[in-house]
Amino acid sequence: MVSRSVSGLLLSVSLLAIPVFGQDASAPKAKPHVIILGVNGMELDIVRPLLLKGQMPNLASVIDRGAYGKLRTVSAPNCPRVYSTLFTSTYPEEHGVTGFLVGGITANTNMLKEEPLWSMLSKNGITVGMANVPATFPVMPVNGYMISGMLTRGKNCEDGVLCAPKLSEVMGGDAVYPRSMQAELLKNVGDFYIDCERMPSAADLKGHEAAVIDRWLAKVQLIRDQQTKLFDYLLTQHSTDFTFMVQSCEDRTGHWLYPITPFHVGYNPSINNVRLDAFPSQYIAFDKVLGTVLKHVDANTYLFIVSDHGIKPLREFEEKDPHAHMDHEKTTPVIAKHDFADGDDVPGSFFAIGPGIKNDFRLMGLGASVYDIAPTVLHIYGLEQPMQMRGRILMEIFDGTEHKVAEKK
Ligand SMILES: [Zn+2]
Repeated sequence: MVSRSVSGLLLSVSLLAIPVFGQDASAPKAKPHVIILGVNGMELDIVRPLLLKGQMPNLASVIDRGAYGKLRTVSAPNCPRVYSTLFTSTYPEEHGVTGFLVGGITANTNMLKEEPLWSMLSKNGITVGMANVPATFPVMPVNGYMISGMLTRGKNCEDGVLCAPKLSEVMGGDAVYPRSMQAELLKNVGDFYIDCERMPSAADLKGHEAAVIDRWLAKVQLIRDQQTKLFDYLLTQHSTDFTFMVQSCEDRTGHWLYPITPFHVGYNPSINNVRLDAFPSQYIAFDKVLGTVLKHVDANTYLFIVSDHGIKPLREFEEKDPHAHMDHEKTTPVIAKHDFADGDDVPGSFFAIGPGIKNDFRLMGLGASVYDIAPTVLHIYGLEQPMQMRGRILMEIFDGTEHKVAEKK
């Protein structure tokens, strides 16, 4: 284990110069498979009624077979801030990706000051696959592949903030590592959108609300279909020990189509009374994506479904909150958000299945946090948690009598 200052130094070197990885002939033993499926802004207040009504059968089956609960997030949570926390297990002020913009510049991987999980795994001979994880643009070298996600810049999305360039339209850095994989993806998956659709503006909506909402939701579903095809292709053709894939359309939909009532702040019947099922339907659609991913989950695979934060209708302190209106807004009529000063208002969520993970085990309260995911993954691979990590191994999800994680190195 190295000191913080030395590890920072190593990080800056290793991120730039990860060598070409070969198969480690000295370790023929199969390594555990871990898949993390991220869902931006999964809101349990919306998901739980769907589970009760049987409309999310795949997630229900994961809950039956695994551990689940709320996941404590950071203050003023947003996707780049939380995902960077999740994959480094360090405070936002430490890893440097404090929000969508840092010092007026769109957050990018060059700003990352702490070593991310994928780098640690790569250095330990574990193969890594990453797709559409927020704040991974420009992509970084890994022992496998990486396809960037939210904050990828491109045509009609020059700042990369909450918009969707196609793979062929990416500008200002690479969206695919290794670069040679891009042509393969274009051929076999198509020219997919890398992030979810930009939200319409108030001016776009005015007088055409229903048509704009329906067109937007159709685009969101197109993006999800493309993403499902991408995930399925990668899990089939490029199976890796560790895979991390993220969807972001649920959150985007919730911001302006959360099913609020006239009691809530910002209610406008011409928008908020048009498609009351728009936001819940995102999770029903997510459940189908989960079904596709579950086809790749065998008895020896760990699957973690994680959400970086929830999302709730606007609430008190909103106008006085220094974090209010800092992201997502532009000119969209936002009725729900997540960057509240108290992150406990909008906890994320966590679901886990895999060898040695308890069945139907509920994590009560906010004892598990976004800081704990990276240490828990390292634990599964038998790797020591480095000093800088702020989280802990979620030991309580493992069944002590059937603990099959890798031997410590
Ligand atoms: Zn959001």
